[in-house]
Amino acid sequence: MPRDPRYDILFEPVRIGPVTAPNRFYQTPHATGFGWQRPQSGAALRGVKAEGGWGVVCTEYCSIHPSSDDSPYAFLTLWDDDDIAPLALTAEAIHAHGSLAGIELWHGGSHASNRMTRVPGIAPDVQPALYHLPATARAMDLSDIKAFRGWQRDAAKRAKRAGFDIVYVYAGHDYLPFQFLSRRSNQRGDAYGGSLENRVRLLREMIEDTKEAVGDTCAVAVRLAVDELHGPEGITSEGEGREIIEMLAELPDLWDVNVAGALGNDSRSARFSAEGFQEENIAFVKSLTSKPVVSVGRFTSPDRMVSQIRRGVQDFIGAARPSIADPFLPAKIRDGREDEIRECIGCNICRAANNEGVGLRCTQNPTMGEEWRRGWHPERIAVYPKRQKALVIGGGPAGLEAALTLGRRGLEVSLAEAGDTFGGRLLREATLPGLSTWLRVRDWRITMIDKLPNVELFPASRMGTEDIAEFGADHVVLATGSQWRRDVVGVYAIRPLTLPDALTPDDVFAGARIVGPVVIYDDEHYFMGGALAERLSGQGHTVHYVTTAAVASSWTVMTNEQDFLQARLIEAGVVIHPLKALKAKGNGEMRLTCVYTGREEALPCGTLVLCTGRLPETDLWEALQTKGIQATRIGDCLAPSSIADAVHSAHRYARLLGEPDLPPRRERASHGPA
Ligand code: ADP
Ligand code: SF4
Repeated sequence: MPRDPRYDILFEPVRIGPVTAPNRFYQTPHATGFGWQRPQSGAALRGVKAEGGWGVVCTEYCSIHPSSDDSPYAFLTLWDDDDIAPLALTAEAIHAHGSLAGIELWHGGSHASNRMTRVPGIAPDVQPALYHLPATARAMDLSDIKAFRGWQRDAAKRAKRAGFDIVYVYAGHDYLPFQFLSRRSNQRGDAYGGSLENRVRLLREMIEDTKEAVGDTCAVAVRLAVDELHGPEGITSEGEGREIIEMLAELPDLWDVNVAGALGNDSRSARFSAEGFQEENIAFVKSLTSKPVVSVGRFTSPDRMVSQIRRGVQDFIGAARPSIADPFLPAKIRDGREDEIRECIGCNICRAANNEGVGLRCTQNPTMGEEWRRGWHPERIAVYPKRQKALVIGGGPAGLEAALTLGRRGLEVSLAEAGDTFGGRLLREATLPGLSTWLRVRDWRITMIDKLPNVELFPASRMGTEDIAEFGADHVVLATGSQWRRDVVGVYAIRPLTLPDALTPDDVFAGARIVGPVVIYDDEHYFMGGALAERLSGQGHTVHYVTTAAVASSWTVMTNEQDFLQARLIEAGVVIHPLKALKAKGNGEMRLTCVYTGREEALPCGTLVLCTGRLPETDLWEALQTKGIQATRIGDCLAPSSIADAVHSAHRYARLLGEPDLPPRRERASHGPA
């Protein structure tokens, strides 16, 4: 299909200093969980983005010196010349598709733990290390600053030798140059502290040094947090953020601006931000510089992208998550297939991957992070050699993904769903506060299935063993999902407990009568307990949220949502009871025990909602077993987990059908001379 001319503006080339981006799609730096240990995985991932049409593709943070070591998290390094060849793989993979390769040079200052290198951290002032306490970063003296400037220059030269076109000076996310900028972390009394001009000195010098080192052929980009969201005490977009841009306006070749301070601020989940949420903080930048500006905002709508450019908010469409959910987003707009964009749902499972120290993953895109280790491509898949029939039972995320992927492989697929509507757990979970975007997991798959003549959808079709036997499929796939447990078994409490009148989230979604005060008991620790507490308190109930963990929805630390979430619950008047386990319920009260001491306390309780473990829905599976009918379980009905895991499980099954199930490739250290 020809491209919609309204979107032509997105495909204009843009000059960035000495280089030119072929279009306005700019994949800003984002973590991958691969880092210096897994260069081939990183290169393959970035190569697919370039293939998908992103005109600029950047790496994740790349340390310039061993005093900036983010272990155990995955980061890149340009510490010596041996780092050049592995990084050149990434630049080459990007160039192979005509895109520009950017590299985000990084020094974390007191943010870096240096757990691997064991080099003392450095900062503008003596400061407790921000992570992995109890280390302390030492204050940089003038000779340290001189050395630091040399590291940036050397790393920039190595980046150029590796083939990169855009080299970053990174002054955001609470890292070293930003620590110099902010009054909160810089109390120096010398030429690098005090007045804003002094606090900006290091950043100015870094830009000048980097330009001098590589600026003849490479563009020098500055990533700056124009607002650290700490009010007037810190950098704000009305105050010092604006003044910094005014002071340095024409110095870099490109401004990559965001609201930051903490990393979670510019990559907030959909629960805590809408598409384009940073606009009010960053829109001023373009009025102060003639240099191109880029920013992010989980942009997935081409019309909103055009509006960003036309209204002069930015020159590029910056994206991390939308490019993870759909590496081919630009190509789809280019080819008039914008309805096929696999829109990011803003769940931040991708952020969790880095925080957990594993390779990148995505709820919407099961091939993300699998480009090298499994050889999966988001748009290409091998045709199944035989024209066979598959029956998929259950139309949640797993069933939809299996039906689509089997259909793409050319099988004759029937997808049967007991309910009137497809979506499974999404239909319930997307009704929780801030989670409506999660329905995109269903919507994209239905859109794509509708384009395949060989996939048929059967709603309102509960399948039993007789129906399945009669159907006579070559492949029977069970995606029948899971149920929340009633026996209190969760992460902490592994012995069952009988509480006849307790509700589960399934009951709440089914409209069970709620009598206050409500006690939500969270021994699962992801989103459900916290989101139900928010919803029920919004409906006017007094809500007590009891968790065996130290904080509410504790696993959401990984998705960078936990602090936003706890603040929201506190604001909503939910009473949080951390580190308490459920002992018994009766006479209008619940008995809790302290997880450390076993000391008991009572809590008034009208309705108890148990958010603990989930049990796979196995009735159909067991019935098929007794009849000797072959079937394969996928998703939650095999092992209840996240939506991301259900989609991945389904994709893996469908992609590997007829193929050997080999272990994923690992990048092994070469055994060269000692
Ligand atoms: P997953 O996350 O693994 O996709 P879900 O719980 O979201 O699991 O979806 C499971 C779906 O399977 C639900 O929509 C449910 O209605 C459907 N289902 C369960 N049993 C049957 C059955 N026997 N026949 C058809 N559909 C079923
Ligand atoms: Fe978007 Fe979620 Fe995928 Fe991240 S994991 S890119 S937030 S859909």
